[in-house]
Amino acid sequence: MARYTGAVCRLCRREGQKLFLKGERCYTDKCGVTRRAYAPGQHGQGRKKTSEYGVQLRAKQMTRRYYGVLEGQFRHYYELAEKKEGKTGEALLAILESRLDNVVYRLGWASSRAEARQLVVHGHFTVNGKKVDIPSYLTKPGEVISINSKSRDSAKIKAVLEANASRPIVKWLDLNRDAMEAKIIAVPLREDIDLAVEETLIVELYSK
Ligand code: SF4
Repeated sequence: MARYTGAVCRLCRREGQKLFLKGERCYTDKCGVTRRAYAPGQHGQGRKKTSEYGVQLRAKQMTRRYYGVLEGQFRHYYELAEKKEGKTGEALLAILESRLDNVVYRLGWASSRAEARQLVVHGHFTVNGKKVDIPSYLTKPGEVISINSKSRDSAKIKAVLEANASRPIVKWLDLNRDAMEAKIIAVPLREDIDLAVEETLIVELYSK
């Protein structure tokens, strides 16, 4: 399936919550969900009946869109999560959170996950001292993520750091702003992940 290239605010409005796909605009009154809190399209404000399958599908689509992951890759993460101990839905979210593009976004080194993906591809980050330009790289506790020494003076990186300097940092990441590096200190727990989704619905969908 191709990557969605339409207006991203429609995706948030479809899911009825902010997915933070547009960077700084998401934190302002210009946010599409704030301005038009109903689904997009001609029938967006109409009454809707949703089937059990429909509810499960929406949960999966919302999660996939939040992390900017394509269908096949999302399914792959689900299969990985099934092999982990504990609850599959929580393991799935922990895997998605551990993607390098998400970590870069969580650290405030990008304004959105889409921007984080682009910065990773352009080689602006290292993991344990080695350049990693794969957004889907799954980070692990103990690894140190840094801004590449060659990128620290880049105007783009400086602007992004300044714009996101006040963003709160999740507790499973230990950020050293001055050193421009961060350590992954734990696997994220469900309570650390601010996505309002019932992940068990995704498990029910894929278990059919
Ligand atoms: Fe979603 Fe951001 Fe658009 Fe708001 S501004 S609707 S959070 S992409």
